[in-house]
Amino acid sequence: MANPVILTVDDDPAVSRAVARDVRRRYGDRYRVVRATSGAEALDALREIKLRGDRVAVLLADYRMPQMNGIEFLEAAMDLFPTARRVLLTAYADTNAAIDAINVVDLDHYLLKPWHPPEEKLYPVLDGLLEAWTATPETPENEVRVVGHRWSAPSFACRDFLARNLVPYRWLLADEPEGRRLLAAAGADPADVPVVITPDGTTLVRPSEAELATRVGLATTPAADFYDLVVVGAGPAGLGAAVYGASEGLRTVLVERQATGGQAGQSSRIENYLGFPDGVSGAQLADRARRQALKFGAELLTARDVVGLEAAGATRLLRFSDGSSIAAHTVVLATGVSYRQLGAPGLAELTGRGVFYGSASTEAPNCAGQEVYIVGGANSAGQAAVYFARHARRVHLLVRGADLHQSMSHYLIEQIERIDTIEVHPHSEVVGGEGTDHLEQLTICDNRAGQRRTVKASWLFVFIGAEPRTDWLGDVVARDARGYVLTGLDLASDGRRPAGWSLPRDPYPLESSLPGVFAAGDVRADSIKRVASAVGEGAMVVSLAHQYLAAQ
Ligand SMILES: Cc1cc2nc3c(=O)[nH]c(=O)nc-3n(C[C@H](O)[C@H](O)[C@H](O)COP(=O)(O)OP(=O)(O)OC[C@H]3O[C@@H](n4cnc5c(N)ncnc54)[C@H](O)[C@@H]3O)c2cc1C
Repeated sequence: MANPVILTVDDDPAVSRAVARDVRRRYGDRYRVVRATSGAEALDALREIKLRGDRVAVLLADYRMPQMNGIEFLEAAMDLFPTARRVLLTAYADTNAAIDAINVVDLDHYLLKPWHPPEEKLYPVLDGLLEAWTATPETPENEVRVVGHRWSAPSFACRDFLARNLVPYRWLLADEPEGRRLLAAAGADPADVPVVITPDGTTLVRPSEAELATRVGLATTPAADFYDLVVVGAGPAGLGAAVYGASEGLRTVLVERQATGGQAGQSSRIENYLGFPDGVSGAQLADRARRQALKFGAELLTARDVVGLEAAGATRLLRFSDGSSIAAHTVVLATGVSYRQLGAPGLAELTGRGVFYGSASTEAPNCAGQEVYIVGGANSAGQAAVYFARHARRVHLLVRGADLHQSMSHYLIEQIERIDTIEVHPHSEVVGGEGTDHLEQLTICDNRAGQRRTVKASWLFVFIGAEPRTDWLGDVVARDARGYVLTGLDLASDGRRPAGWSLPRDPYPLESSLPGVFAAGDVRADSIKRVASAVGEGAMVVSLAHQYLAAQ
């Protein structure tokens, strides 16, 4: 932890050096003494200290300085460090100005120059001020800080990205004092949010996910050009493939567009995964799997979107959205599925501002004591309802069908029935949403009678199934009509091997129509949409990749 700062500012270089020397002599082992020779220079130093998340204990400013006098400096410094103790150094003739400053800048003390001997005139004053300052509970900031607006979609996306990648951060509202101070220190406008400040004091204004990832220490560039195995997508299937691939000696890289964990990472509680009788949150499971993959030597790239796949002889090339590429002997497509969006008018504009797709945990504390609407009848919606019931006053579960029995696991239906604050609304569909800054009301239609009603609502979480986003694969691998990747026996038509298949053997079970390219998990046609099956396929695909490599 960095030592707190004592800052001295005096325009006379000799005096400036002398003050700093005396202060350093007594306090240098516990405080960092920063010296400036003008108010502007001192303010620049304070802004940097603020951005680095360090603390300032005492500001010692000379009164008579050109451009900006000591009182003006202390007034500006107060905006950045309101709890720092303020001392004005004055000549005898300026005593009146110092007394006036007691009201203007809430001055703690004024010291007459010269202050020698410091043991009598300087140190007793500073000792008292430092003692008082130490008693004020202010902690240094050594984590990422995000300044944003409560109802801003980019601010939400930024926080969600950090949370899902398990990067600890502190959230500050742009219209609260500390948020305002940080924006001022960064020279940023409140309209620029989110503004992210990293522990080393770097300011990022509305960063892209790739920029954010790099600055908070997540790897984004591959260490090598060529791998045995590239796994695309770091959900359970991809993590499984990376753990088994790396642990079995394959040079493995895992490439993830957003955050490790995939859909499972967003689950508040997975109760049916083997070995966790009390359930496990998706974030915990993802964190453990990620660490396990890294432990075995897999590389993990975050915030990298794979947008193209090509075959060049036996080499498989994957292209990123920035035009760069990575090559490998084998590839696992583990890109899962993405949430389907609700098409009702008004909702698209409110996404991230009251309307959320699957992202439950980041917003949950904000819903405390409020009414929450959840759309969906499957397990993901059921889990969210149970989770939100801990925070919200009432949870409304809107289900298109007559009840939950067709689509939800029995254990979850039982849990929901036991929670008084969850109300299930069958035959209900959201047909519209309205709000200016944030969602304010929803229109819900009863699909039997066609009746519509409007309800006040600030929170809508949508879990209405998902689709694979595999357009980027084009015709390179065969897909079914809905975009799922066909593998193994599903590729055969009339007992014949897939078109363009070049090898004197049938495709392996999880192999796509391009030899050496496999699919695992939800993205695979006819897969079982479960964490366990995705992990299992991730493991299985590695053994098939070994067989493929051995035959090369
Ligand atoms: C809220 C919720 C709760 C659930 N609860 C349970 C449960 O309790 N039990 C259970 O068994 N199952 C549950 N499921 C289902 C389970 O999570 C999925 O079946 C499982 O996550 C599928 O894993 P996957 O690795 O195939 O795909 P995903 O989890 O979808 O992961 C795919 C990953 O690939 C990344 N990606 C996609 N395209 C690209 C690209 N072009 N470039 C780079 N990266 C890309 C995505 O960002 C994503 O991280 C739940 C799902 C949800 C949404």
